[in-house]
Amino acid sequence: MKATVLHAVGEPTVVEDITLRDLGPDDVRVRLAASGVCHSDLSIIDGGMPAVLPCSLGHEGAGIVTEVGTNVTTVKEGARVVLTWNDACRTCFHCLRGEPYLCPSGMGYIYDAPYAEGAAGPVWQSLGAGTLAEETVVPAAAVIEIDPELPLDLASLLGCGVATGVGAAVRTARIQVGETVVVVGCGGVGLSAIQGARLAGASRIIAADRVASQLNAAKRNGATDVIDTSAIDLPTAVRELTAGIGADHALEVVGLPETILAAYSSARRGGVVTLVGAGRYDESVTFPALSLMADAKQVRGSVYGATDAPRDIPIMATLAVTGRLDLQALVTERIRLDEVNAAFASMAAGNGARRIVVFDDV
Ligand SMILES: [Zn+2]
Ligand SMILES: [Zn+2]
Repeated sequence: MKATVLHAVGEPTVVEDITLRDLGPDDVRVRLAASGVCHSDLSIIDGGMPAVLPCSLGHEGAGIVTEVGTNVTTVKEGARVVLTWNDACRTCFHCLRGEPYLCPSGMGYIYDAPYAEGAAGPVWQSLGAGTLAEETVVPAAAVIEIDPELPLDLASLLGCGVATGVGAAVRTARIQVGETVVVVGCGGVGLSAIQGARLAGASRIIAADRVASQLNAAKRNGATDVIDTSAIDLPTAVRELTAGIGADHALEVVGLPETILAAYSSARRGGVVTLVGAGRYDESVTFPALSLMADAKQVRGSVYGATDAPRDIPIMATLAVTGRLDLQALVTERIRLDEVNAAFASMAAGNGARRIVVFDDV
């Protein structure tokens, strides 16, 4: 069984044969049909997001359940599923308060033990998923059955990028009909946030990026205005488009200190700043102290788009089947598993939205 394994931070990944652990009573085995390549995989490769190594990458997949553990009643063999890295426990402090996306045991990066054996020894499962592989073994709570009409290559995107971006717009920011929105950063998650703002009925959706091709993609995903931030000051441009007021909502989908501050400055007084981009654990952002009080902006962190995966992923699948969510508009290209290092290099350069690895025989 081939998987994409990272052996050391900063090195290219290796597509190699590993042997998965045996199925536990609460687990399912999934044959992957497709897996999106997400920026968090790149963050694990470059060390921005800690992980136990060597680990298999990928956490945005869809496929077919091929085997279920003896305790599993929620899903059957043959089910078409999306994987989620947020297999919330449903009993902890956060789960009981409607915050499954903060569940400590559902965060995907809690490692109890390796999940596979490679030629060089044990292999760990990044984000509890390991979807850039032909097969994976996960708890049954980490798979969500979806409308069988949705093709699995498009469905894979629901597991991380689309849930994170659409959720940020409709669940974390709670954009209302008629509000103005600026989205800073137009990769796969940013474009999903733009589609989320469109679904929510935003009157003006301003997309900002430094890469011209991303701004074209933003228009295809529902942006009403685009700003090339390699040439133009973002807060000034947003004020010009909003009668000098600033945007009701600023969604930051990059994770750099300077783009977080640009998003903060682009929101109107009393507006909402939603932080979606995963910053590095070793970087800090400095806000003007008086403005934090006097401008009364709300700064909200958004983890997994504040979604509840078993509730929201089927909703998003239906929105895709009925054409209200355009998953194809997020796809830059479909690739083979052995092209995954090239995909990471393109992503590091800031090009494209989602690349999807499509497997041979599903
Ligand atoms: Zn929990
Ligand atoms: Zn992701």
